[in-house]
Amino acid sequence: MSKITRRNFLGKSVQASVGVGLIGVGQTACSQTISSTESKGITVLSTWNNHKANKAAWSVLQNGKSALDAVEAGVRVPEADIEDRSVGYGGRPDRDGNVTLDACIMDEKGNCGSVCFLQHIKHPISVARKVMEETPHVILAGEGAYQFALSQGFKKENLLTEKSRQEWEEWKVKSKYQPIINIEQHDTIGMLAIDQNGNMSGACTTSGLAYKLQGRVGDSPIIGAGMFVDNEIGGAVATGMGEAVLRSLGSFLVVELMRQGRSPMEACKEAVMRIVKKQKYQDIQVGYLALNKAGEYGGFAIQKGFNCMFSQQNEHQLIDVDSHLKK
Ligand code: ASP
Repeated sequence: MSKITRRNFLGKSVQASVGVGLIGVGQTACSQTISSTESKGITVLSTWNNHKANKAAWSVLQNGKSALDAVEAGVRVPEADIEDRSVGYGGRPDRDGNVTLDACIMDEKGNCGSVCFLQHIKHPISVARKVMEETPHVILAGEGAYQFALSQGFKKENLLTEKSRQEWEEWKVKSKYQPIINIEQHDTIGMLAIDQNGNMSGACTTSGLAYKLQGRVGDSPIIGAGMFVDNEIGGAVATGMGEAVLRSLGSFLVVELMRQGRSPMEACKEAVMRIVKKQKYQDIQVGYLALNKAGEYGGFAIQKGFNCMFSQQNEHQLIDVDSHLKK
């Protein structure tokens, strides 16, 4: 039976947990392709305490299906969860009361699809997959994305729950726009998975920052910012203040750093430190997770409080991610 455990997620413990085969910081393994013989089997990694999502993805992989099917099935769980206030149905609205959704998906061949500023559709990740598979495009936005979703058989739904509407009414009294770091139930989900053939895919889906300006699009639907996969190397996902991730194209950066020989943790740390060096970072959170082709994972964040779910060898672990600021 699988179990959930919790442990620290520092550099050392990562090495301890994944054993040998980490690519050291000092090594210059340019364009390194990690052989699948080093694989640790099917693997799922996702942002925050998304254990139900990981388990859903895990059972898809156990049934021999692809990493692409797994990440889609996995992130659909929080998309449909009314209690999840940062993703899909139940997500917090923009400052005009509209729930607007961003999502993207990428497979092992480098195919990708994305939707942004999508309204009234509960599962933006599945629309993003349709964009990837049924159109010659990568991104569809707003009304066009919505009309495309309807044409593909998705149903119009009201995504603004009573709880979110009430909170928004209360927020309007002061109308102060101030993103909250590690907000409770902060579950923008980025997920990476490796299937039994050793192939990797990724997905990312969110309702974005609560009370954002209407039309605001974050990092989550932008390939290379909120998520990126290169099946030769590995993948990365981001969560937190999307603007900071967009300015540094963070997930692409993490994967390219792994290509140059960094371990997943070192690559995430370097990407965080780029933000720390060049942007105002004190009052925002950004967290990265990375998974390489050998099934080794790592993460790093600006602020304390970021965690992730890691599933491998039939264990599901909730892991605290190390951070630049320790308090
Ligand atoms: N990255 C998301 C965005 O900026 C939000 C988040 O992860 O909290 O839309």
